[in-house]
Amino acid sequence: MTLQGAADALWRIAPALLVLATLLLAEWCWPWRAAQPRRWLANALLGGLSFLLVLLLPLASMTAAAQWAGMQHFGLFNLIPSPLWLSVLLSVLLLDLALYWQHRALHWGWLWRLHRVHHLDPMLDVTSGVRFHPLEAIASAFYKSLIVVLLGAPVAAAALSASLTLLASLFAHANIRLPAQVEQGLRTLLITPGLHRIHHSTVPAELGSNFGSVLWLWDQLFGSAVPVSRQGEALMLGIENHMPLTQLGKMLADPFQARRVQ
Ligand SMILES: [Zn+2]
Repeated sequence: MTLQGAADALWRIAPALLVLATLLLAEWCWPWRAAQPRRWLANALLGGLSFLLVLLLPLASMTAAAQWAGMQHFGLFNLIPSPLWLSVLLSVLLLDLALYWQHRALHWGWLWRLHRVHHLDPMLDVTSGVRFHPLEAIASAFYKSLIVVLLGAPVAAAALSASLTLLASLFAHANIRLPAQVEQGLRTLLITPGLHRIHHSTVPAELGSNFGSVLWLWDQLFGSAVPVSRQGEALMLGIENHMPLTQLGKMLADPFQARRVQ
């Protein structure tokens, strides 16, 4: 890679690094719960392993899919003439809806095995936001690229959606306690850390709630919105009757373990 190439790559991921640094600082200043640093190494290793798959693979595959669909005049927005801003906006919205259903599907049957390791984290913070099994990350990139092709989404929409999804995941998992008014204000539109940690609750009904990626709207439309945990401040994180996983080898092997399937 040339020096110019390295500078370009750094410039592209600069916004994500800035958000990450801000969230880490916020977790340090206003923690929701005391930090549990023992998980950081395994989460960072799995996150590092999945980094290419969680960030770069969706970005590359979704933008390539958008370019291909554009050249082939394939997909909804390539067939229906519409202003670019409108097709970008609708594509980003519909991709977020598709991700809502992807997350619901990941809680069903065998797919749950791919997603389970993400829920076997004893604590939540920004490292949980990249703690996905590589197989889930690969399956997700294929799914998102297929949706991009079917939508005929513009390249800008594909890149925007991939970036927003990663930033939203880091934010939703952050170990921060937002001021009550900020939390309530953001909830009118977005999935907040307060909402997403209910999805990580050990209570099965709460595990089946708040699946949204960026917008909370889809949970509200499809009946999975839960604003408050019945466990209150004592919210237990993880999966009922399962020990949390914090060792990289066990985390990678988890999809092949015969645990009780939901
Ligand atoms: Zn989940």
